[in-house]
Formats: sequence, structure tokens, C-alpha cells
Amino acid sequence: MIKVFALRLGSTKVPFGQFYGGLDGWRGARAVLRFATDKKHFIIVPIHAYLIDHPEEGLILVDAGVNWRQTHEHGDYYRGIAHYLFDDDEYQLTRDEELPAALARLGYRVEDVRKVVATHLHEDHIGGLSYLPDAELVISRGEWENRDWKLFGFLPMVYQPSLQAARKITTIDYASGAFENFDASHDLTADGTVKLLPTPGHTPGHLCVLVRLDGYQLLITGDTLYTLRHLANDDVQAFGAGDWVPNQNASIRRIAELRRRLPELVLAPGHDHSDYQFLHLAPGLAKGGLTPEELAGLRAYEETVFTAEGRLQPEAIPRFVPGPGADHVGRVTG
Ligand SMILES: [Zn+2]
Repeated sequence: MIKVFALRLGSTKVPFGQFYGGLDGWRGARAVLRFATDKKHFIIVPIHAYLIDHPEEGLILVDAGVNWRQTHEHGDYYRGIAHYLFDDDEYQLTRDEELPAALARLGYRVEDVRKVVATHLHEDHIGGLSYLPDAELVISRGEWENRDWKLFGFLPMVYQPSLQAARKITTIDYASGAFENFDASHDLTADGTVKLLPTPGHTPGHLCVLVRLDGYQLLITGDTLYTLRHLANDDVQAFGAGDWVPNQNASIRRIAELRRRLPELVLAPGHDHSDYQFLHLAPGLAKGGLTPEELAGLRAYEETVFTAEGRLQPEAIPRFVPGPGADHVGRVTG
């Protein structure tokens, strides 16, 4: 039977507005300026990856988190503009959260991972490739073709040294036909249980991974949905600076429509920091899948977040709460 495990591969410190400021002026060049200069409203968010254990096709890792050097030798690892744009404490990673340790706790070895699907090529999703030099990296063609693209001509989307850790890269073209309300899809496994769906927007070629499990389906959303709440696109949006912000909103609406079509769909976001992830999703996925009781608990939680129309309940709207420390790290309500 196919299993999916949730892995927490460290954390990252981000401005609150990066996650929740899209409707509040964090757009275009202003978004980048505010990202670089807002040092007073930080939140720490987890970096999630998901491990699929497929009976015929072995281990498939979706996103690879960050590595030790990125985290603990940040200033040395990052050269060029990245050196200046990001703080030295951008990432946090304990020895327990390193990919090899996380796999070992589940009884797996890094050598057993055959494929890594990267939802996109940002640092917190491909840093861990350095632990998996023999795995095949699978990304969308759109993401690959834009790997040298620079925002405003100078901010690179991809930090090449992290990508270069992958020795074998396969790009996919979504040639497996339409799936529900998606015009195109890519069957990653021969039995169709693992599908890649195009969700451009956060990056030019971002993808999501749909896994068919026993009685439900799991959509691993990467950063198309930073958190569950980002599904309510009219109430909360992430920051966005590229030409593709409209694509991001369209991709989120497409996921919302997929959820209406597939009532058993469960969302597995890239950086959810709420009870949704830690009390509902992660405990179930610590053993490889959700029981009917866990699914019911997850649905009950979703009802506290969303109205019947898919808007956020008033008390679920994220708000920044300042922390007590001089590091300006606060937390988020809801
Ligand atoms: Zn991310």
C-alpha cells in the first residue's frame, strides 16, 4: 500500500508580509523592497517535505528542505546578491531535522530515495538535494527553462550551487492528459497514483503533487499554498513580485475548485505553521497515512477556518502578534 509521510526539514524566518501581505501592498518592486527592509515583523515557519513510499516505484521525496551549510554557514554558502538580501539566520535546522536523520527515523536511508520532485527551485525546497546526489530530480520544463531568470533583471530565482547538487535532472511536460479541472497532468507512477499538476505562479513552473491513497487524495501544494489559509484567496494572499502573480491566484482558485470536485481531497501545504499541520496532518502522516477518524478531525478543523463559501472565518484571519524579544520574531493568530 502506498504511504505518505510528512517530514519537517527545518524552519525559515520570514517577514509576516511575505506570507500574508499580498492584499496589503506587498506587490511588485515594493514587495521586494519591503522583504529586504522589514526587520520588525518576523515569523518562523516550518519547512515541510513529504515522502511517498510507493509499493512498486520505491521512495519519492517531494521537496528536499534545507541543508546544514545553507543554515549554519549561511554567509559562506551564499555568494552574490543572495549574500546581501538574506539574513544569516534565515534558516534553522537541527541535527534531528536533517534529511538523513528524518529518513532514518522512518527506517529509510538516503540511498533508497530514487526520485525527488521539486515543486519549484527555491532554496528551501532544493537545499537538501546535496544529501541525495544519486536521486533523479524531477521538475517541470517551465521551471527548468526559467532557472536563469532574474526578477527585475538582478534577483536570481535559483541559486545555482544548490541546483547543481542534482546529477540527474528530468523535466516533465504534463503529457498525461487532463485531470478534473486541470487541462494537463503528468503521471509520475505507472499506476496513476502519483500525478504532477501545473500550478504556475509562485514561480514560473511551480507544480503540485497529487497522491491517491486509501479513500482520500493528498495534494502536496508546495508554495502555491504556503498554508491552508492561503486557499481563501480573496481574504489572504502571499507577497508577489513577478509578472506571474495573476497565475498564482488562478492556480489557487484551480485548487479550490479541485477541492469542491473531490470532497475527499486533503491539502498538504509547504509552510503551514498552524494547528492544521501540527495537530491534524503531521500526526497522521507520521505513520504513513490518515485514518478515517483523523480525516474527520481534519474536516472539523477546516470548518473552523473556512465558511461554507470558502472565505476565512473572521477569527481565522491571520494577524501578526509581536514577540517579547529584540529579534522582532512574533507569531500569527488564527
Ligand atoms: Zn518555500
